[in-house]
Amino acid sequence: MNDGVSIQPPRTPDLIVPRELAEPSLPLVDSFLRRITYLRLSVTDRCDLRCSYCMPERMTFLPKKDVLSLEELHDLATAFIARGVTKIRITGGEPLVRRDIIDLFTALGRRLGPKEHGGLAELTLTTNGTQLAAHAEALARAGVRRVNVSLDTLDRAKFAQLTRRDSLPQVLEGIAAAKAAGIKVKLNAVALKGVNEDELPDLIAWGHAQGHDVTLIEVMPLGDVEAERLDQYLPLDDVQAVLEQRWTLTPLAVSTGGPARYLEVAETGGRLGLITPHTNNFCAGCNRLRVTATGQLYPCLGGGEQVDLRAALRSADPEANLAAALEAALRIKPEKHHFRMDARGANPATARHMSMTGG
Ligand code: SAM
Ligand code: SF4
Repeated sequence: MNDGVSIQPPRTPDLIVPRELAEPSLPLVDSFLRRITYLRLSVTDRCDLRCSYCMPERMTFLPKKDVLSLEELHDLATAFIARGVTKIRITGGEPLVRRDIIDLFTALGRRLGPKEHGGLAELTLTTNGTQLAAHAEALARAGVRRVNVSLDTLDRAKFAQLTRRDSLPQVLEGIAAAKAAGIKVKLNAVALKGVNEDELPDLIAWGHAQGHDVTLIEVMPLGDVEAERLDQYLPLDDVQAVLEQRWTLTPLAVSTGGPARYLEVAETGGRLGLITPHTNNFCAGCNRLRVTATGQLYPCLGGGEQVDLRAALRSADPEANLAAALEAALRIKPEKHHFRMDARGANPATARHMSMTGG
């Protein structure tokens, strides 16, 4: 392995990538012939909420010195664009709590352009919405056309309990500001047994009435939280069966290149996405890589495989070492995740929380 590129945990010899194979201009294709065109880039592990399914109440955050600078994040993103990545989602933690984050959006927004000219087709973000009102216009100016906002409940007391912060009014204001700025909003809700279970139809109806798509997500066993994962887990097959008693749901052929499958709700005229890592595996079409705010590349959300891009970026020969690190990541990207949601007290699939890899 080239100097400056460290891969953890210790790898088998076939991960040592000869320099000639680590070609900086080739498309990113993994060992299952999946073409990688989508980067999810986390810009911070910090957050102004403490969602009980995402992190413990007393979460420990990384020292700021370990986190990549905005310039380094930009250089990394640029290297991915050069390798054929056409979509970048900025995530976190909460991306909008990072100081000067709009500068990164503005810089990456300049890369938006025709795919055939090696441009970025989409720059987007996932946010909890608390700071969106302040930033919506700047995001739109930077070229953001769509945003995912996480919203699990419309009940203020329940929101405060679930996120451990009383911020629902700011989130609703943020969603309205994004819409007013011309950004298309998709609402994401994690389906939680006994928490928002009864409210999901109303949440979907509200979102659709506002003109927003809504996607439901099954909870994933990432990192330790206070609650038992099995107590949080609500299979979306069960939710769908309940929704079908109220509405006519028609499967749509559309795919946004992600793990969601989509249904049209005839009565609301809106679109409902379902992300079902447990009840329906979607890994065969995986087109993404994830990089944390410290530059650790995780080829799979549900796996421990890891490649250190920060070391490559800070090495004497960043271009060659980044190319080698990406090649290693493609080789270790697993065929599928191995989430288990069938046993009480089971260890999480990964020690890291979703706030590290950004969902
Ligand atoms: N803070 C931003 C937000 O909440 O949208 C971005 C980061 S957050 C980690 C990204 C997404 O992951 C959110 O939609 C959140 O609901 C979801 N999420 C967090 N922990 C999860 C878990 N254990 N299982 C499933 N989804 C989770
Ligand atoms: Fe923060 Fe998003 Fe995790 Fe909630 S889901 S604690 S908003 S990072």
